[in-house]
Amino acid sequence: EPNLFKQTAGRPHSEELYREALEHIVGGVNSPSRSFKAVGGGAPVFMKRGQGAYFWDADDNRYIDYLAAYGPIILGHAHPHVTAAICRAAENGTLYGTPTELEITFARMLKQAIPSMDKVRFVNSGTEAVMTTIRVARAYTGRNKIIKFAGCYHGHSDLVLVAAGSGPSTLGIPDSAGIPNSIAHEVITVPFNDVPALEEALSRWGSDVAAVMVEPIVGNFGMVMPKPGFLEGLCAAARRNGSLVIYDEVITAFRFHYGAAQTFAGLPEGTDLAAVEPDLTALGKIIGGGLPIGAYGGRAEIMLQVAPLGPAYQAGTMAGNPASISAGIACLEALQEPGTYERLDRLGAMLGDGLAQAADAHGIALTVNRIRGALSTHFCAHPVTNYDEAQDTDGEQFALFFRLMLEQGICLAPSKYEAWFLTTAHTEDHVRATLEAADRAFEAMAQ
Ligand code: PLP
Repeated sequence: EPNLFKQTAGRPHSEELYREALEHIVGGVNSPSRSFKAVGGGAPVFMKRGQGAYFWDADDNRYIDYLAAYGPIILGHAHPHVTAAICRAAENGTLYGTPTELEITFARMLKQAIPSMDKVRFVNSGTEAVMTTIRVARAYTGRNKIIKFAGCYHGHSDLVLVAAGSGPSTLGIPDSAGIPNSIAHEVITVPFNDVPALEEALSRWGSDVAAVMVEPIVGNFGMVMPKPGFLEGLCAAARRNGSLVIYDEVITAFRFHYGAAQTFAGLPEGTDLAAVEPDLTALGKIIGGGLPIGAYGGRAEIMLQVAPLGPAYQAGTMAGNPASISAGIACLEALQEPGTYERLDRLGAMLGDGLAQAADAHGIALTVNRIRGALSTHFCAHPVTNYDEAQDTDGEQFALFFRLMLEQGICLAPSKYEAWFLTTAHTEDHVRATLEAADRAFEAMAQ
């Protein structure tokens, strides 16, 4: 009974706002993942204020936030250092249409943290960053096709909205209407963590493959670590074939340490970081400190393809705007504080282990995948290492858990595939309260 432990005072105002939103905004939301479609439908919660680890909805209910805006809000809401940077930027004018010194400062910070990026370009979203890496890879190699991994999400540009095709190396079928088959046929999808499937795809389409695109640590069908040898095998196979390796680090960069997954000492033991360095990298989310941003970069000779130096065109009226860049600089500065990631790891362990124990105590099958301060909960008894295994989990149980948590003031993403993100604003008290809520939820679910 979802209302057993109701602590929030109901959400009549959210429901009213949702009805109103439906009249003016398609589906009532500006991104489909915000709807509650995947957790039984109804009005999503309309938030009106965030502070630290909390946000408040339109009815003044308070929630502990594990959504973190799908990842960017790693410092919690309204972090004073970021807020001050945004205010300063606003006072000086938010957009010039000219280069600024801030962009150089920020590019230098990113390059220091992610040395595979000799040259950087700022854009406005993760989608744009990924989309452009593909264009640049095609321009550089003179080839058209890309290989991606099933279940990895790379934004909503035509080419990467292709996930499906059961079994290895099937030609892509679009996930969305409005994408011509001619485009989908330029994408080959293979299972994550499966080097032989990638090699098979390369042996079939190799001379046409411009790039292999991957989330080096997956964040989009839960948090999934590459198996030992997977990234090495991927990079070696791509290189043998003359294809570029593109890492989509939109979720992963600055998530687990001050750097990207490609420079993360927490990759499977024995990973040779030099052997898994990508040619191009796409960034977004955290690097904007909560304002819109994306960035891409890579080896200088490849980035030379980009206009105005080269023939691959990419532009942006808003790109590199001083507000986003200032917020990004401030966010990275705050993340440099000693102990930041150790603390996220400690809280992540407390939360992840606690959830697993509580589920177990109530006889609920739950697999928790955790990488430092990010984790995912899969209602199943098997490990989750690829998209098939993530799909083969109990969505109805997740939906019930999601609602039981929401009623107790704990906000998760409304999808069984999304991660929980700890922020630097979370404390042990928040985690303890969350575990108590989870214990009650599991108890109700077990009945
Ligand atoms: N790449 C990854 C790995 C993502 O998770 C996302 C968004 O969730 C994107 C790209 C797209 O980024 P944006 O939503 O900023 O366009």
